Amino acid sequence: MSRIRGRDTRPEMLIRAGLHARGFRFRLQVRELPGRPDLVFPKWRAVLLVHGCFWHGHNCHLFRLPAARHDFWASKITANRARDARSCRALTDQGWRTLTLWECAIRGRSRRPDQEVLDACETFLTGTALAAEISGDSSRLGEIS
Ligand SMILES: [Zn+2]
Repeated sequence: MSRIRGRDTRPEMLIRAGLHARGFRFRLQVRELPGRPDLVFPKWRAVLLVHGCFWHGHNCHLFRLPAARHDFWASKITANRARDARSCRALTDQGWRTLTLWECAIRGRSRRPDQEVLDACETFLTGTALAAEISGDSSRLGEIS
């Protein structure tokens, strides 16, 4: 289990719908590819991986190892991260460019406006970078609302 729980959640759907509205066409969860990317853009030879911050051990406010069974979770998350790195390398070896969209960018206190996330996705897709990540905006964490 290395995915965000509850697929097709609203933030993710908004990103999908937004990319579609911008003219991007993609396939969903292609099982044949390493790491089973959430969205695959054949025309752009690019994949989008939506990573849950807990399961993938992101260095952000959404990730904190539980106090209970600490060692179990630590080794589990470490294994997940190692698998992510392997998948990413395998994708690169197969000529795919990889964009990682972290959960904290689309949900929670550090989430970015939808348009900002979509702009970043579009920049990556139409660009030439081999890999990129979109994380939450940690400067929002200090804001008093
Ligand atoms: Zn995160």
